[in-house]
This record gives sequence, C-alpha cells and structure tokens, in this order.
Amino acid sequence: MSGTVHIVGAGLAGLSCAVKLADEGQRVALYEAARMAGGRCRSYFDATLDLTIDNGNHLLLSGNTAARDYGARIGASDALVGPDECEFDFLDYETSRRWKLRPNASKLPWWVFFADRRVPGTGPLDYLDAGKLLFARQGATIGETMRCEGLLWDKLWRPVMLSALNIEPAIASATLAGAVLRETLAAGGDACRPLVAKGGLGHAFIEPALRKLQSQGIEPRFGARLKEVVFDGARVSGLRFGDEEFAIRPEDRIVLAVPAWSAQELIPGLVTPDDHRAILNVHFKIAPPPGQPLLLGMVGSLSEWLFAFDDRLSVTISGADRLMDAPREELAAKIWAEVATATGLACDMPPWQIVKEKRATFAATPAQEARRPSAQTQWRNLFLAGDWTATGLPATIEGSIRSGYKAASLATRPI
Ligand SMILES: Cc1cc2nc3c(=O)[nH]c(=O)nc-3n(C[C@H](O)[C@H](O)[C@H](O)COP(=O)(O)OP(=O)(O)OC[C@H]3O[C@@H](n4cnc5c(N)ncnc54)[C@H](O)[C@@H]3O)c2cc1C
Repeated sequence: MSGTVHIVGAGLAGLSCAVKLADEGQRVALYEAARMAGGRCRSYFDATLDLTIDNGNHLLLSGNTAARDYGARIGASDALVGPDECEFDFLDYETSRRWKLRPNASKLPWWVFFADRRVPGTGPLDYLDAGKLLFARQGATIGETMRCEGLLWDKLWRPVMLSALNIEPAIASATLAGAVLRETLAAGGDACRPLVAKGGLGHAFIEPALRKLQSQGIEPRFGARLKEVVFDGARVSGLRFGDEEFAIRPEDRIVLAVPAWSAQELIPGLVTPDDHRAILNVHFKIAPPPGQPLLLGMVGSLSEWLFAFDDRLSVTISGADRLMDAPREELAAKIWAEVATATGLACDMPPWQIVKEKRATFAATPAQEARRPSAQTQWRNLFLAGDWTATGLPATIEGSIRSGYKAASLATRPI
C-alpha cells in the first residue's frame, strides 16, 4: 500500500496496529489525545506513594498468543514473568485454607483426578459442568449455561470468570466465557500459566513499543484529540484535531483505535457497547514478605487478587462499581486488614493509593456483546480497533491487540 495509515488512539489496539504496520514497512501516523500512550493499560508516577504504579494490575495467561507476539515484536518478551508451570495460589479468607490449583501442561486434563491439584473438597466430576461453556448458545448467559452455585463455583469458577469478564459471572455472556476457557484452561496448563508485568505495564507494553516506532521514524502526536471525522460519500476525506484538519488522500487509510464512547461520538450511527464496569486497585507501599506468591487468588474477602511487586502489594477488585463511592480511607483500611492476614505482615497500614477505573471494560453481557461492531465500516478507508470491537474475547489486552492486528491487515488490503 502506498499511502499512510492514520491511527487514532495509542492504547494497546492502536500501538499494536502501528507496530505491525511498521514491521511491514508501511507508513504510519499515530495520534493520541492524552499526553502519554497506553490508555487503560499504563504506568505513571504517583506522588503520594513516590512510586511508579500501574492504573490497574493486569493478568495475562500464556495462551494469550497475540499479546505474546506483540511482546516479541517490541523486544519485551521477558517483561512478563510467571511460574514455569501452571500454578495458581488461592486463599479462602474465611477458613484460612490455602491451596494451589495446578492444571497439567497438556490438553488431557488428568489433573482433576489429583486432590492436591484441584480445589479442596471438590471431585473430578465437578469440573465437567464448566465444559458446557465451550458449546454455549449465542446470547446465553453463564447462569443459563452452567450451575452457578456450590463449592467449585464459589472457589474457582466465579472468581476466575469475574476477573476475566469483569462482571458478575452469572449474568455474563457464556460465549465470551467459553472463548476464554477454550484458549486457556481447556487448551491445557501450558496455555494457562499466569503472566504479570512485574516491572510495570509501561515497561512491558508501552515504552518498548514507542521506542520501536521511534526507531522507524514514527513519532506519535500526543495531545491530539480527534474532534471530527469528515466523510465524503463512501470514504473519509479528513480528520479534524481542534483547529487543524488533515486531508485524507485516496491512498490513505484510517484506523480508529479509540474507546467505544469516543468512537460513538465520532461516527454517525455507530452501535457500540454502552454499558461499562469498573475495576478498583489498591496499592500498598510495602515489600512483600519472603515467599509471597506473585499472584494470590483470595475468596471470601473483598480483595480478589493480591499481586506482589518488588516495591508494593497490590489488590485488584473486579466489577467494582459498588465501591466507586465508598470512603477511601475505610476501603483502604479494610483491604489492608485482609492483605495483612493473607501475607502475615503484622504492621500498621503502609502508604496506600486507590485507583478507580470506572469504565475499565464494557459489560460482558450477551446484550452488550451483540453491540460490538466489526473492524470494517461502511466507509471503505475507515477501520475500527479496540477491545470493544467484535474480537470474540472479553475486553482484555489479548482482545485489543488482536483488534489492532486485524485493523492493520484490513488497512493494507486493496480497496
Ligand atoms: C484497571 C484495569 C484492569 C485491567 N485488567 C486487565 C487484565 O488483568 N488483563 C487484561 O487482559 N486486560 C485487563 N484490562 C483491560 C485492558 O487494559 C484493555 O482491554 C486494553 O488496555 C484496552 O486497550 P484499547 O487500546 O482497546 O483501548 P484504550 O486503552 O482505551 O485506548 C484508547 C486510546 O484512545 C485515546 N483516545 C480516546 N479518544 C480519543 C480521540 N478522540 N482522539 C485521539 N485519541 C483518543 C485514549 O486516550 C486511549 O489512549 C484492564 C483494564 C483496566 C482499566
């Protein structure tokens, strides 16, 4: 393709699109409204803690093939760390019982036959029910597809699905849950190893991408908020950023990699997900005690996942809309009490910070799933990317990178 691909939005969808196109030797221009790249996946310096923290702890799995490919393209594969074998530590806060979930590496799930690999108190046959998600009817909820009660639900499926879908799982889309299951646990433990950006999201996903783009002469324009897309019949003929308008030549293409709510404002008649769910993170400035697992799943507590970074302990709570207006000090104190119990750290609450992301992901219900548009639009030179487009996955890093790659392929096809 001889023209320039204008990519609007430097979150992971826009960056992955730019990186793929740059690898192919295409001309790229990248625009971002904020002063920094990363969107909903970013690191920043927090003055209260005097630390660089992430807007939210992000968990990936080894079966996230696009995310790993992107990591390799930007030379940051080693920035994601995790155990060599699939292993998840859990704590039942109410009973103090701890266990490790240890699916075996291969696709044949023989691990369910070993009590020390599965959830305590469950039997091998209990695990069969979740298999129904793999064959779920389009439009069905998880609640309509599998049993959403009992010990295995409470201690495994609910917490896992809540973190993957960021919504109360019983009302979530069964096909989205099935897609996650198919690519991870059902693909064997090798596809299900937890991966964490231990040095921060910026270090793993953003800064190396910007360096790579810069090395190829691509300098993102920050502070460039797209205000208007100028349409001319079947194509886009201009992009207006404030007072500045860029003419789009016939050989150029546009990839709109902005969040759903921005895309809806910019494109007339575009149907997108319009219901979102929050995620809340609490960061405590304290070194984890020796032996603290990188990731601890907590059930029976307000805290859901406890991440152990070198300089902080950090808790993630998904589907956290109910907590958005909770008094911050009370919330931090309650969560610290849980973290102190979970880690055995018997000290006063260390410096803390709460980060709320109100529109962290679209609500992964069947109704919202039905509102996700494809990457192709009715305008032949305009393509969409973002975790909210029809990726077949929930709003995740994997989904946003796949959407970026897809838009890159479409944008370089002859039209
Ligand atoms: C707290 C939190 C925790 C999460 N945890 C996980 C997790 O554990 N695992 C996982 O896989 N995923 C997780 N996610 C989801 C993941 O972060 C997102 O799916 C992903 O970052 C979305 O990337 P994106 O590029 O599609 O969108 P965004 O990151 O929203 O990027 C869009 C970009 O467009 C820019 N923009 C908007 N409007 C305009 C405009 N008009 N002009 C120019 N630029 C514009 C924005 O500033 C932004 O930079 C989490 C998200 C949050 C918020």
